[in-house]
Amino acid sequence: MSRILIIEDELSIAELEKDYLEIDGFEVALELSGDTGLATALEDEFDLIILDVMLPEIDGFEICKQIREQKNTPILMVSAKKEDIDKIRGLGLGADDYITKPFSPSELVARVKAHLARYERLISSGMPKNDIVEIRGLKIDTTARRVFLNGEEKFFTTKEFDLLTFLAKNPNRVFSKEELFNKIWDMESVGEIATVTVHIKKIREKIEYSTSKPQYIETIWGVGYRFKV
Ligand code: CA
Repeated sequence: MSRILIIEDELSIAELEKDYLEIDGFEVALELSGDTGLATALEDEFDLIILDVMLPEIDGFEICKQIREQKNTPILMVSAKKEDIDKIRGLGLGADDYITKPFSPSELVARVKAHLARYERLISSGMPKNDIVEIRGLKIDTTARRVFLNGEEKFFTTKEFDLLTFLAKNPNRVFSKEELFNKIWDMESVGEIATVTVHIKKIREKIEYSTSKPQYIETIWGVGYRFKV
């Protein structure tokens, strides 16, 4: 659900905007003055901010400027004065859109939706996809460093995660404990290979249905471990 912050000192307008947005399924927070509005905008995360220009304490121009110094949240500015529109444009405050009062609430909702859609497209096109390894219900998001087993998140220490990811990315190959130790711990193996055994055991406890009959990480006796695909 998208979260919208409305910064507007005229309660009747603010509540009307809030009602219309809520009917459309948005979660709406309301701030009735400039200083609290700015604080909330900076502290909390919103998908879009509707910002009135004429506000007590701090005006909308200043709020817009300060939000932009820290965040890319889309800002839709609202003003009763036509000349404010030129000012918003001219000052290069970083507002994404502006609308003049009086406006119909449905127009506002339409603008909000258009901006959110555009912003989401921008984000999804600009961000590289996470690198994900998926094997029989086990999903390893190596970018976010998160692991899910049949949709349920499992938690690993750094080395457990690295070891699991290394094996999963190199399936059907047997690695000796020495090799794994050198790969993951990144130092010469000096009698520390028992660490690998301990880590494999911990990983299995988290992802295997039966640790005696592992489905993912097999033990190849006398050699090492192999990730089964
Ligand atoms: Ca106002």
